[in-house]
Amino acid sequence: MATKPNLAAVLYGPNDLRLEKRPILEPAFNEVLLEVDTCGICGTDVHFLKEGGFGAQMLIKPIVLGHESSGIVRKLGSQVTDLKVGDRVAIEPAAGCRTCDLCKVGKYNVCLNGKHCPTQKHDGNCSNYFTHYADCCFKLPDNVSMEEGAMLEPLAVAIYAARKIEVGLGSKVLIFGAGPIGLMCLIAAKAMGATRTVVLDLARVKHRLDMAKKLGATEVIAIGKDDKEDDLVKKIHMILGAPADRVLECTGSQPGMRISIKSTRNAGKICLVGLGNDDVTLPMVDAISREIDIMTAMRYNHDFPAAVETVANGLVNLKPLVSHHFDLKDVLEAFRVASQSEGNKIMVHLVPRDTNNKKKFVN
Ligand SMILES: [Zn+2]
Ligand SMILES: [Zn+2]
Repeated sequence: MATKPNLAAVLYGPNDLRLEKRPILEPAFNEVLLEVDTCGICGTDVHFLKEGGFGAQMLIKPIVLGHESSGIVRKLGSQVTDLKVGDRVAIEPAAGCRTCDLCKVGKYNVCLNGKHCPTQKHDGNCSNYFTHYADCCFKLPDNVSMEEGAMLEPLAVAIYAARKIEVGLGSKVLIFGAGPIGLMCLIAAKAMGATRTVVLDLARVKHRLDMAKKLGATEVIAIGKDDKEDDLVKKIHMILGAPADRVLECTGSQPGMRISIKSTRNAGKICLVGLGNDDVTLPMVDAISREIDIMTAMRYNHDFPAAVETVANGLVNLKPLVSHHFDLKDVLEAFRVASQSEGNKIMVHLVPRDTNNKKKFVN
């Protein structure tokens, strides 16, 4: 049952984010009502905030931001049997329509009629309450904190991308971009067996490169404004001892994609994870003649179960990624910090910290 008003971080337009009361929706037969505990801020939320959206997802009405959340089940829809009231869960925000061709072949993550959130038609979950499909809620074992539960979403992004290009035992991996998704890609790649990793980002976000080093990157490269593309490629080859087998490109920028292609070995694989420049010029003759596979990844494709398992079993440690904690009342400041790329993962707490953790969250 809901016991308080539903305050939500609602975006009205570029740089117009408001904390306001929203109705609490009844769960449908296959849904649950969740009391949101923790919500991490993501790069896509920042795109919405700064530019009013991205690609085809431009704002057409005010929407609630946020999609990296964990919560407590407060009410069950009439046919929900796998969850019970009081369960602690991570919320997978990608939900297909379940009936279209894409959903039927398992590509629900890019379903056109899906209830993915936040998108221009669907609210996100930086709100006290959220109703969602029960099968998109993943139970958290006792040893997984609500903060880690919220971070399963970006971890699932990384696992999906790394699985797509078959990162494996002994892979030499280049990760372009040291924002939260880049760092998650580093964590996932190492957990999947990568033995050499190099992470690149701009020198001005040194704190993020320092975090990559702390998380076990073999080496990081801080890109200065005078650095030439080919010199960076040489440095990458030197660190990895050879061209990269696998690349996770997390910036979506033209330089990121160009350097990724040039740094990859013949028949290597690249996954484009980041959203950046709309149009880019790439060395495609080089890519084709060396048979480099360039793939894309959007959201995840049933990767939450693996994400829960790897955190619960200690194969990965996400805790160091959390750099800031804000209460919901300070959500505007939380988004300001996120949009300045200060810190790493920024958490908004919708209930007082540690209310639903078995052990106090420390990192
Ligand atoms: Zn995200
Ligand atoms: Zn569908």
